[in-house]
Amino acid sequence: MKYDCVIIGGGIAGLTCGIRCVRKGLRTVIFSNGMNSLHFSSGSIDLLGYDREGRKVHSPFTEIQNMKNQNPRHPYAKSGIDKIVESVDFITRELSQEGMIMTSNGRENHFHITNLGVMKPTYLSQENIFNSESLNMVKSDCPIAVLNFSGFRDYFPELTIANLKKNNLFKNREFIKGDISLKEFDEKRRNHEEFRSVDIARIFNSERYLNKIAQKINKISGQAEIVTLPSFLGIENFRSVNRKLRELTGKEIYELPTLPPSIPGLRLDYALKNIFYKAGGEYVSNDRVICGNFSGRKLNYINTENSGKYGISAKNFMLATGSFLSGGLTGSYSRIHEPVFGLDTFYNQDRGRWHSKDFFDKNGHPFLSFGVETSDSFTAIKDTTEISNLFCAGSVLAHYDPVKEGSGGGVAITTGFTAASQMTGKF
Ligand SMILES: Cc1cc2nc3c(=O)[nH]c(=O)nc-3n(C[C@H](O)[C@H](O)[C@H](O)COP(=O)(O)OP(=O)(O)OC[C@H]3O[C@@H](n4cnc5c(N)ncnc54)[C@H](O)[C@@H]3O)c2cc1C
Repeated sequence: MKYDCVIIGGGIAGLTCGIRCVRKGLRTVIFSNGMNSLHFSSGSIDLLGYDREGRKVHSPFTEIQNMKNQNPRHPYAKSGIDKIVESVDFITRELSQEGMIMTSNGRENHFHITNLGVMKPTYLSQENIFNSESLNMVKSDCPIAVLNFSGFRDYFPELTIANLKKNNLFKNREFIKGDISLKEFDEKRRNHEEFRSVDIARIFNSERYLNKIAQKINKISGQAEIVTLPSFLGIENFRSVNRKLRELTGKEIYELPTLPPSIPGLRLDYALKNIFYKAGGEYVSNDRVICGNFSGRKLNYINTENSGKYGISAKNFMLATGSFLSGGLTGSYSRIHEPVFGLDTFYNQDRGRWHSKDFFDKNGHPFLSFGVETSDSFTAIKDTTEISNLFCAGSVLAHYDPVKEGSGGGVAITTGFTAASQMTGKF
């Protein structure tokens, strides 16, 4: 089988690269072994949320500009501001054509509100997610109702309210807390105590209980004009569920991202995959790429678990296998390894310096910025030799810390897009 582009890993980096390649007319396939990190994320796309001192960033592009001098090996420094802007605009446009509208604050960050009631800086958040701008939609003295479904075990409205009250924006607000219970929902519980976000989201897929739910919301929330619920109001039909609930209640209905499995993350994953399929890409799921055949500075073909001895060849390849969570990187006691091709990796030789002492250390953990080394154009390095047709993108890359910086989604999109531009430029 011969492709223009073979992508290994179907997370946000691989999908961004894939969408860009098929839009440019390249025959593109993605091989992906399993679930990607979006299923754990909030579904918002963070570009750069925190500076080196851990302070919240309002203007990510100003900070990224400074990064060029501070850390020239950072993926953003390699991509450059123009490509970062082009890539986030590209993915925002693609998502909106697929019916997923992302809220932004121009070129600045805004703050989405987490299930813990904390304001988290982000660049793009899904339109139904409660954020700092949502307050502009209602009177300054109206109460906010923070509701849950009874039986949902992964969310505590008390905690949301307690933390929101610590914030100046909310400290004078009245909060109404309550649980919605429906006997039809109770019957669907797997066990008496347990409801996960996906269970509830699937129930919303049918939309048949919306009238009853709207009545319950109105009864509990009284004068509140804003109602928040954990994020489980439908998976593929979330826009329609939200619109109908707003119409039926006459209130602003927002969601708060929950613990994994994350429904906003799932929505983003589905939307990106749909865009890729519709544009003509091939997506092979549950197939692990196990090795590749190289000659000199070129990767000739790859082998997967299912392809056996038959190689899959392409003009260009992209490695977007993620970090430790997704198996894109593995660690033994003394070294960090890239398991598909054995690419050169960056890590500290001193094992004692891989992590900080405290779990919540403000300097983060060094191992989070370990990963594969690349050239400035994101081509891979193997045994100190640059492989000219193998690119790398996303969280498999070294020299940035997605957690400390709040940059995971942004780096994945930017590097996936930039690498795709390098590939498409070659044709
Ligand atoms: C808990 C958590 C919360 C987060 N929250 C946010 C957030 O709110 N906002 C934000 O911007 N970022 C967030 N991030 C970071 C962000 O989700 C990741 O940085 C980003 O999704 C990484 O994307 P990726 O495409 O590089 O890798 P991944 O999403 O990890 O995808 C890699 C894919 O490659 C596949 N794969 C691996 N090896 C092989 C192989 N050999 N063959 C075939 N396939 C393979 C894996 O199965 C996986 O599907 C969060 C991360 C975590 C873990």
